Amino acid sequence: MRALGAERVDVVEPDDPSEAKLHALIDWPELFRAGYDAEAQVFAPRADDPLFGYTECKTAACDQVARTILGLCWRCDQL
Ligand SMILES: [Zn+2]
Repeated sequence: MRALGAERVDVVEPDDPSEAKLHALIDWPELFRAGYDAEAQVFAPRADDPLFGYTECKTAACDQVARTILGLCWRCDQL
């Protein structure tokens, strides 16, 4: 367990020296701010994130990533 910023999070520090070098280069607080869940090991940035953000499908009640020039996801574009 490691304290990062104002919150405590579980980050497993690797035993392998080459992995430890990479681990030390990661800005963990920024990664957590951007949407990384260490417990689930999932990176899910918000749509409005300035770096990792994406355009959501314009169809009502659809939260998929827009893939077409019309702002629709693949599924809604097929309807
Ligand atoms: Zn859609």
